Amino acid sequence: MALPLLRRRSETVWKNWAGEECHPRVIERPLSRGELVDMVGIAASAGRQVTVAGSGHSFTGAPMTDDVMIDLSGFSGVLDADRASGRVKVLAGTVLEDLAGELDDLGLALPNLGDIDCQTLAGGFSTGTHGTGEDFQNLAAQVVDIDLVTATGEVVTIDEGDVQLLRAARIAIGSLGVIVAATIQAVPAFNLHREDIPMPLEEALSDFDRLAAENDHFEFFVFPYSDTALTLRRNRTDRPPAPRSEVEKFISDRVVENGIGDVLLRGLTHFPRAIPGVARFSSRFMAQGEQTDTAHRLFVNERSIRFNEMEYCLPREEGLEALALVLETIEEQGMPLGMPVECRVLGPDEAMLSPSFERPSIYVAVHQHASAEWERWFRELEPIFTERGGRPHWGKHHTRTAAELAPLYPDWVAFQAVRDTLDPERTFTNAYLERVLGP
Ligand SMILES: Cc1cc2nc3c(=O)[nH]c(=O)nc-3n(C[C@H](O)[C@H](O)[C@H](O)COP(=O)(O)OP(=O)(O)OC[C@H]3O[C@@H](n4cnc5c(N)ncnc54)[C@H](O)[C@@H]3O)c2cc1C
Repeated sequence: MALPLLRRRSETVWKNWAGEECHPRVIERPLSRGELVDMVGIAASAGRQVTVAGSGHSFTGAPMTDDVMIDLSGFSGVLDADRASGRVKVLAGTVLEDLAGELDDLGLALPNLGDIDCQTLAGGFSTGTHGTGEDFQNLAAQVVDIDLVTATGEVVTIDEGDVQLLRAARIAIGSLGVIVAATIQAVPAFNLHREDIPMPLEEALSDFDRLAAENDHFEFFVFPYSDTALTLRRNRTDRPPAPRSEVEKFISDRVVENGIGDVLLRGLTHFPRAIPGVARFSSRFMAQGEQTDTAHRLFVNERSIRFNEMEYCLPREEGLEALALVLETIEEQGMPLGMPVECRVLGPDEAMLSPSFERPSIYVAVHQHASAEWERWFRELEPIFTERGGRPHWGKHHTRTAAELAPLYPDWVAFQAVRDTLDPERTFTNAYLERVLGP
């Protein structure tokens, strides 16, 4: 097999969803396990650094490199499925939307999904991607085994037979090797009934525990400077699908929310002083509605407005106070943040680097339009989260370093021991991983 890996020197550009770029020495697109194993083996023995890119939906430098990037978009699809147990083996580069469709055909589904389904399976679980629901966990918690290409060019299968290793590999931000495939625990397919209901922010905060307990998947969005929250309540139902019409979807999602919203937010970057007034005005028109459909269609939203995001996972008892303080600080300091703040809830899990490791959690996310300054404001708000034991989402902006993160993760040392065993020469690293996990 020809391996052009070490000969090519061309400057290539890779961009993430928010438009940030890196310049890999080469982007390799293997089409078979054999090809992938050879590429990793040759790169490792030449002392190169290897990073895998999923679909580029992380805001952080997690998938970025100036060395060897591997694109696994050729590794897509379901390999094997056991309908009775719900265990499904999936290639790592499968986009979640495609996976949801394939699972649907098998009469199966993922029990929970985040705000979008454009991520790859491995990219999603490697950063702790999550949805909402106090009795639910992140995507990684559904992973029961992982096929990993290590730096020695071997393929190892990490499964429930070695729980410690599996707990390390579920959320490893690409630092242990290249994930080729993973088996997920799916559930029988189900429909969701979704209600979007605006309510006073004060009520959403004071009734949060009740709303989180009464709804399978509860979350809310609130515009800074406004006092109305848009609550999203999704519940399992036996009702047949009654989705919105394509015209209604187009007008509400594409034209109003994303189209007009985008134009407005772009305009506001030039008139930041208008943000509070526009936010208060917009919050009065938060769309109320309800629909019933196949679950995966109602978990996700259309997101064509490009933005930057910081999201922290807080201990459940600290989350709402942090959220209230974020909104208060934005308002008091007149920060030009015109996009809604999001609040979600999640159950604990066991992955060593999971932001919700062993604690019920509230996730608070701050957004800023991609055309506007975000770094300064996110930095100013970040201490509200860090002072309350917040753990950052690995795929969203934050400034934490390994030294600051280590005390937040009880199994940090155990994770580093796994990393030392599987990748002692640090083939699978980049600037981001050196910052957050250490050299
Ligand atoms: C519009 C938008 C909405 C979002 N909504 C949510 C949400 O609701 N909830 C949430 O939690 N997050 C959300 N995110 C963040 C997103 O889910 C994560 O950042 C996720 O990691 C992106 O997956 P990806 O496939 O794009 O992976 P990438 O961003 O390309 O990579 C992520 C990490 O996974 C590693 N990786 C990817 N593939 C492999 C592999 N095969 N082997 C080893 N390592 C691998 C990469 O090296 C990198 O470290 C959102 C992001 C965007 C842009």
